[in-house]
Amino acid sequence: MQSCDELLQKNKVWAAKKQKEDPDFFNRLADKQSPKFLWIGCSDSRVAPEIVVGAEPGDIFMHRNIANQVIHTDFNCLSVLQYAVSILKVEHIIVCGHYNCGGIKAALDKQRSDLLITNKWLMHIKNTYRLHQDEIDAFDDQNDRFNRLVELNVVEQIHALSHTSVIQESWRENGGPTLHGWVYGVHDGIITPMITLKATDEINPIFQYRQVK
Ligand SMILES: [Zn+2]
Repeated sequence: MQSCDELLQKNKVWAAKKQKEDPDFFNRLADKQSPKFLWIGCSDSRVAPEIVVGAEPGDIFMHRNIANQVIHTDFNCLSVLQYAVSILKVEHIIVCGHYNCGGIKAALDKQRSDLLITNKWLMHIKNTYRLHQDEIDAFDDQNDRFNRLVELNVVEQIHALSHTSVIQESWRENGGPTLHGWVYGVHDGIITPMITLKATDEINPIFQYRQVK
C-alpha cells in the first residue's frame, strides 16, 4: 500500500466483491451490531485482528492502543469496555499482545525525552517489569526478556479487567464475559493463549468491590 488513493480504490473493489458474494451482507449490518467478542489489542500494524482470526465486519468490537493496555484512568478503554459488556453483552473479551512489540521494547529502555506523553503510557509496563524483574532478568537473551514481558503484560491486563466494576458486576449478574489473554506471533502468525479468567474465578480480595447492603 503506497497511497490513500490506493486504499480508496481497494475499498471499492472489496465492497463490490462482498456485495457480489453475499448481496444481503451490508443490509444485515446496516441497522445494528451484535458482536460476541471485544478485542483489546496493540496498535501495531502487523497485528490486524479481523484478518488473523478470519473474522468479518460485525464479529469483533475493538479497542487498540500502544501495548494493549487496560488502564483504570483511561476512559477511552473503559467506555469501550462498558458499552461492550453492558449494552452489546459480549461473551468474550480478548486482550491480545504480540511478540516483538515496540511498546514493550521501549518500556524496557530509558525514557525518551522526545516522547514525553508516550513515556507516561509506557510507565505501567515498566511497573509490570518491576513486579517480575527477577524472572525477566534471568533470561540471557534480550529478545527473550522482551517477549516474556509481552506475555506478562497480557496476563496483567486480564487481571486489570477483572478489577473493574464493569466486569465484577457483569460476572455477578450474568456469569460472563470470559476474559482471555493471548499473544500473537508476528513471526509466524500463530496466537498462543496465556490466561483465561471466568466469573467463577476468585479475585484477590483487595480488588473486589464491597457489596452495598
Ligand atoms: Zn505492540
